[in-house]
Amino acid sequence: MQLSIVIPLLNEEKSLPELYNWIVEVMLSNSFSYEIIFINDGSTDHSWQIIEDLATTSQNVKAIHFKKNYGKSQALHAGFLMAKGEVVITMDADLQDNPEEIPELYHLVHNENYDIVSGWKKKRYDNVVTKNLPSKLFNLAARKVSGLALHDFNCGLKAYKLEVVKNIDVYGEMHRYIPLLAKNAGYTNIREKEVKHQARKYGETKFGSERFLHGLLDLITIWFLSKFGKNPMHLFGGLGILMFFIGFLSALYIGISKLYHLYNHVPDILVTQNPWFFIALTVMVIGTLLFLSGFIAELILRTQRKHERYKVSKTLNH
Ligand code: UDP
Ligand code: MG
Repeated sequence: MQLSIVIPLLNEEKSLPELYNWIVEVMLSNSFSYEIIFINDGSTDHSWQIIEDLATTSQNVKAIHFKKNYGKSQALHAGFLMAKGEVVITMDADLQDNPEEIPELYHLVHNENYDIVSGWKKKRYDNVVTKNLPSKLFNLAARKVSGLALHDFNCGLKAYKLEVVKNIDVYGEMHRYIPLLAKNAGYTNIREKEVKHQARKYGETKFGSERFLHGLLDLITIWFLSKFGKNPMHLFGGLGILMFFIGFLSALYIGISKLYHLYNHVPDILVTQNPWFFIALTVMVIGTLLFLSGFIAELILRTQRKHERYKVSKTLNH
């Protein structure tokens, strides 16, 4: 099979029939062998009935049903597990992504051997204040952190080699950073392609303004994981020892000055009246805590390593 088209959706009953017909039209006119995987992410409208009807009329339609809303990342994860096509396309269900982009995306991945081709909604039809401007800032931050020269990390329309989607773990709200997840998994042949974008025709956006806060926090998580995820002790242990050392020097200083005053019979303030006492105390406690955090993080990793330490890309004569 050449193509798997993975479509996560939440309450998109009005868009679904139109979207389906449009995709089929594109598939037929290019004679692709394909499957369309709808993932119903806990819709409370008639989306699932519509998908059931489509699945009875066509064997190319596969579907996954979530009983409740788990979020777009979880929906994509389930779709990626099911996908079998050589090239996997993800797109939104709200008709904002144009199915006519699919043949070119397929060509870039299949013939030009890109791991990921990510859509770029250069001309975007969303609200300027609530979406377009914040999204520019957000992409700037993602570019800086990831080192990937993409303008539109979170574009729903993307094409992947099958191997890529099988080897990335999209969870939480990490769908915003799939190119970065892929890069961290060793798939670095990534490019973007300008794609046509439409205004939302039916229904409304499913992501409120909290997505920017969540998005930035997730970005910090990914950055942190890619830098220290494999060896947290390098960060926490190092900082902990440094802090403890500062505390220890402060305590040493208090002790020596106390002895000096006693020895020379000079009147002295109480230890608790000396600010260095509090600095020493605090810094040593924080240092110990940091060190312990690093140690605990290493222990957690050690138990996890039983499950998955590395991903084998290929084997020979197996
Ligand atoms: N979506 C989903 N689960 C969610 C939220 C959204 O499957 O919890 C789907 C939604 O139905 C659409 C796609 O993800 O197909 C993108 O969502 P939306 O169009 O609301 O995002 P926007 O284009 O406004 O960023
Ligand atoms: Mg949309």
